This record gives sequence, structure tokens and C-alpha cells, in this order.
Amino acid sequence: MISYTGEKPLASWRGQERYENDLLDCLTVIFKSGGCAWSACRMCSYRHERYSGLSCDTLLDRLRGQLAWIIDQYKSEDYRMIKIFTSGSFFDPDEVPPAFLTDIAAAFRGKLVIAETRPEYVTRQTLEQFIGGIDDGSWEIPLYCAMGLETSNDLIREKSINKGFRFADFADAAHRAHAAGAGVKAYLLFKPLFLTEGEAMADMQTSIQDVSGHADLISMNPCTVQRNTELEFYWKRGAYRPPYLWSILKILENAPVHITCDPLGGGQKRGPHNCGKCDYDIVKGVRDYSLNADRDLIGALLDIDCGCRKEWEYVLAEERPYCMPLTR
Ligand code: SF4
Ligand SMILES: [Zn+2]
Repeated sequence: MISYTGEKPLASWRGQERYENDLLDCLTVIFKSGGCAWSACRMCSYRHERYSGLSCDTLLDRLRGQLAWIIDQYKSEDYRMIKIFTSGSFFDPDEVPPAFLTDIAAAFRGKLVIAETRPEYVTRQTLEQFIGGIDDGSWEIPLYCAMGLETSNDLIREKSINKGFRFADFADAAHRAHAAGAGVKAYLLFKPLFLTEGEAMADMQTSIQDVSGHADLISMNPCTVQRNTELEFYWKRGAYRPPYLWSILKILENAPVHITCDPLGGGQKRGPHNCGKCDYDIVKGVRDYSLNADRDLIGALLDIDCGCRKEWEYVLAEERPYCMPLTR
């Protein structure tokens, strides 16, 4: 393998993940890639982290350099699951040269792989080939395709996120993934732009129901305000508030299946937050719940006595949507 010295991924860290009632040691890696071909979602800054103008061979070298760095930094026996992100879609051949998929499969053979991609890059042939490389019989499902569906509502996905695909596209991709022997993980975005807190909660509850029939794993991502995004533009002008942690608890309590949730930026201005006093305990509790699936913990957190709960209830009752014209 060519080693391009000096390259390393955008980020990587060790942690734990719940999988089939088990806790697995997990390595998460965000590779710097050729970048997202869509690059237009209103809340996304990951798309800015990319190599531009590289030939396919040079891009492959850089990716291989990052992989060499990971292999050097983390002992293989220390983790069983690996979550792979890029600055876009792992299975987009223009963003991640197919030869690199072969390298990844060889490097992480025997691991349980979760790899993020947009639905249009989920092809049976690509997945079957990748699974052929990764699968050593350790896992019944050795690969999960993780897709950022965000919401099952096409109008919200189009107007509030600008995601560029429909629920039907996700469902078709989930079908192709399953046919190839892969599992499906859905990422749902809690409270994109232009929704009230109440509308966002209702949308998340419906989305969880709708997606359960297509995805094997569901993860809820509470929206955070990333830099250099359209979302940040509105947030700076007071036109967006990240979700309340109370709302997250309520959704987790009511969800018909176990939903994992890592409230990134939790308790901070740009992330999901309450009043500042109760935030730490709730963020920690939500992270614990993702691992232990203990609904009683969520109930106990909802019982925390903090003055901001009244504020949240008021927001749910009184916040009204802004009207947007349907025509120009
Ligand atoms: S959220 Fe995903 S699809 Fe949308 S611009 Fe960012 S990387 Fe691309
Ligand atoms: Zn509080």
C-alpha cells in the first residue's frame, strides 16, 4: 500500500455502540475525501472539508495515507465495529475511488462496518463486492449502509434541508441494500430550519414510525449550528433556535423502537440546549440511554425539576410558524 506521509483523517475516535443488546467497542473515522457531490444541504459544513481538483490517483494516495495513519494509531483487537464517514458519501465512486473500498475491506475484514452514503450510491454490485471483502463470517450482517434521510416528510426535506432526494429514493436504496445482504441505518435530523419546536417534534415522531419499516437501526441527530452554513445565517439573526433537550427526552420516551442519539454540542448555544443548569445531566443521560436502552432513565430525566421546563412547555403551546409564500 502506498503511504502518503503527513495525511490523516479529519477526525477519529474510540467509543462504544449498542448493537443487538450488546455493547461493542467502536472506532469512528471521518476520512477527508473528494467531497460531497450534492453539497447543498442548509445545515451542513462537512461538505467544505474536501480535497479539490485532485486526480483520481492522487486522491487515492491521500486516502491511503489516511488509512495507513489509522492502522498505525489504533490496534485492530481494540474494536469490533467501525463507523466510516467521509466529507460526503463513502460509496460515491467519484468521491472515494473504488480501489479504496477494496483497501478498506481488506484493512477491516471481520469488523462490523457502518458506512455513510447518500442513497443514489447504494448499488447492489458495489455493496456485494464490499461485503465480499469485509465478511469473514463473524457477523450475520457485516455492513450497514447509513443514510441521512433526515425526515420521512418530502416537503420538509426539500424546503428545510434541501437534501435533494425523496423518501421513495431512500426506501428504494434500503431495498437494494437489503438485497445485497447489508443492513440499513437511518439518520434523522431533529429540528431543521423553519420548523417550530412542536412541528419538529411531530415530524420526528412520524419519521421514526415511517422509517422503522425500512431501517434496521435509527439514530436521531439533534440539529447543531455548524459554521459557514445557511442555518448559521438564520441562527445569527435570531431566526433559529436549536432544539430543547426536553424535546429529545420526550421523543425518546415515546419512540416505539430504541433510537440512539448523541446530542453533539449538547448544552451549548449552537447545540441542543435547555437553560444551562440542567443540560449536563440530560446530555449525559441521553448518551447513557443510547448505550443501555433503559427507558426508566429517560423517565427520571423528564422528572428533573428545573424552571426551564415551563419555558419549554410554553414554547410548545405558543410558538407559531412563519408563513412563507407559495409563489413568487
Ligand atoms: S448533509 Fe450530506 S448530502 Fe447534504 S451536503 Fe452535507 S455531506 Fe452532502
Ligand atoms: Zn433547566
